[in-house]
Formats: sequence, structure tokens, C-alpha cells
Amino acid sequence: MSTSETPSLSCVKCNSILDRATFEGLEVDLCPRCGGLWLDRGEITRAARLPEAELMRLRSLLTDVGGPPPVPTDSSVPCPACDGSLSEVVLGSVHVDYCGKCHGIFLDRGELEEALVAVRGRDKAASLQQMVAAAASAAPA
Ligand SMILES: [Zn+2]
Ligand SMILES: [Zn+2]
Repeated sequence: MSTSETPSLSCVKCNSILDRATFEGLEVDLCPRCGGLWLDRGEITRAARLPEAELMRLRSLLTDVGGPPPVPTDSSVPCPACDGSLSEVVLGSVHVDYCGKCHGIFLDRGELEEALVAVRGRDKAASLQQMVAAAASAAPA
């Protein structure tokens, strides 16, 4: 195919074709059946910075699905975006499926909020470290 569009991904949990939705230029793939969310590398950080109105829209897309709740993956599953495989990692208080090869993550329905909190907390810690470093370097020699 000559199209440059990324092919549709299928859901890690229920195999449905993921829908693509855009929030202020941030393109995410979400499952219309189980409410799962696939985020490419770095997208969780961008999602954490979205305005509240856009996050509300994302939340409603994820929670309005009527399908069965996702089943936990007990072993490693193939990555929907590359030929790597997903393994469980802890992000804040939730376990998310993470691809060590393309660094994408898959969030089950309901995991987004916790993941955003974790990412925002890390952002805060990072800027605090930068502040400390800046303060230290500004000190007279
Ligand atoms: Zn699904
Ligand atoms: Zn991958």
C-alpha cells in the first residue's frame, strides 16, 4: 500500500480494531469495545498535559463503552504496534502493559486516571530536581 497512514491497531485485550481519536494534536488509539487505550512512546506525558476539557472528552470515550471489562493478561502478549511483546509494569498504583521495544503502553479501562497522576507526579519530581540543580549552579563560586 502506498498510503503513509499507520495501519489500524488491534486491541491487546479483546482484539477489536482500535479507533483513533485526536486531542489537541495528540493522536491516541482506543478500543470501542473494552475501553482500553494504546499510547505510543511519550504520549502519556502529552496526555497528562492536556487541558481538562480534552481529558473529559477522552474519559467519556473510554467509559461510554458497553463491552465487558477487560481481562488481565496473565502472560506476555504481542505488542499491537511492533513485533515486540508487552509486559506488565507498575505505573503509580496501576499495572499497565508496556512494550520494551517501541515503549508504547496499553491502559485498561479505568487505568488512565491513575497513570496520569503517576506521570504528573514524576513531572513534578523532575522539575523539582531541575530547580535544585539550577539553584546549586547559581550559587557563587
Ligand atoms: Zn478491547
Ligand atoms: Zn511495541
